[in-house]
Amino acid sequence: MSLIVQKFGGSSVANAELLRNVGEIVTGTYEQGNDVVVVVSAQGDTTDDLIAKAKEVNPNASKREMDMLLSAGEQISASLLAMTIEKMGYPVISLLGWQAGFSTSSTYGSARIKSVNPDRIRNELDKRNIVVVTGFQGTNKFDDMTTLGRGGSDTSAVAIAAAMHADLCQIYTDVEGVFTADPRKVPSAKKLDVISYDEMLELATLGAQVLNNRSVEMAKKYGIELEVLSSLTKKRGTIVKEETQMEKMLISGVAKDNDVARISVIGVPDKPGLAFKVFSKLAAKKINVDIILQSIGRNNTKDISFTVSEGMLEDTIAILDPYVEVIGAEKVVYDKDVSKVSIVGAGMETHPGVAAEMFEALFEAGINIHMISTSEIKVSVLISQEEADNAVTAIHNKFFHE
Ligand code: ASP
Ligand code: MG
Repeated sequence: MSLIVQKFGGSSVANAELLRNVGEIVTGTYEQGNDVVVVVSAQGDTTDDLIAKAKEVNPNASKREMDMLLSAGEQISASLLAMTIEKMGYPVISLLGWQAGFSTSSTYGSARIKSVNPDRIRNELDKRNIVVVTGFQGTNKFDDMTTLGRGGSDTSAVAIAAAMHADLCQIYTDVEGVFTADPRKVPSAKKLDVISYDEMLELATLGAQVLNNRSVEMAKKYGIELEVLSSLTKKRGTIVKEETQMEKMLISGVAKDNDVARISVIGVPDKPGLAFKVFSKLAAKKINVDIILQSIGRNNTKDISFTVSEGMLEDTIAILDPYVEVIGAEKVVYDKDVSKVSIVGAGMETHPGVAAEMFEALFEAGINIHMISTSEIKVSVLISQEEADNAVTAIHNKFFHE
């Protein structure tokens, strides 16, 4: 007998018919003699709808009350799924985050899971119950409801799998797995059978929104094998796990991130310490900087360019605009209409020429590169946003031609 954790995203539990479909998957797994713990997200757009309702009454509601509200979304789907399974004739019980033993940090809206005490879940499983747990929530040291941040249910599922040493953690969603590119944009994109944690982490950060980042980090930390699969087709999904030497793929995927803005500080005096001054100023305000490029000094000045997420642009400009004078630079300029396009693959570590091949694809498509950054398993380029889809297709064709 195995212990299997199955997580269902909001689109998989959106209405009665879909709940019934999930009920069939869950009870099918149970029928095979497994212990089954189910983690659910809020139905469909419930979380967005609740946020909209809150804005109606108070646009500046406290985060504590927001968590009180948003955690209700998962309570609805958990109880409805339990009722559905009950109706199908199986023993089942739904549990809220705190009942399932989730203790979190006190940061409302983006709490971190501190521990999961699975005693109650274990108890219910011993009674041969199917256990349905609300994702995305826990309680903090004040016994208040907390939520884990958008998309947090994936992390709830992995946390239970880790705490209970589950044999498998399945993440059911509305796509069939992890693809080599966004299949809605690139029809020739292929589903991957397996991908490593590190590649998945890069792809997740790069805007391939299949799995929440923190859930992958946690799965890697505790060695939990994940399977990402569709709740609607009965096909096998993509396994996310530690890579083995044999599996190292040259390129596992091409991803695009539109949520990027480029900022340049122009005419910075060409002397030591200025990059330090600029970036420590930003770090102090917790602004995350991604690609950085510094030009070679000319006429005793240089330009420093970098990227931030679009949401951080305003804050960044507000910090740097008055600072320009202090450090004797000329001005700050920015561009929001840029995208980051990246290739990810564990195999490129040992394989020269991958970056060159990517640049060749962009050259052949007539696409200009503004900035480049690389890591062991990733090459990213910053290009103009309107060319991003073309770039993904061109690069994908280059690496995944038939
Ligand atoms: N319902 C929450 C959200 O949107 C958590 C989740 O779905 O994972 O974001
Ligand atoms: Mg999600």
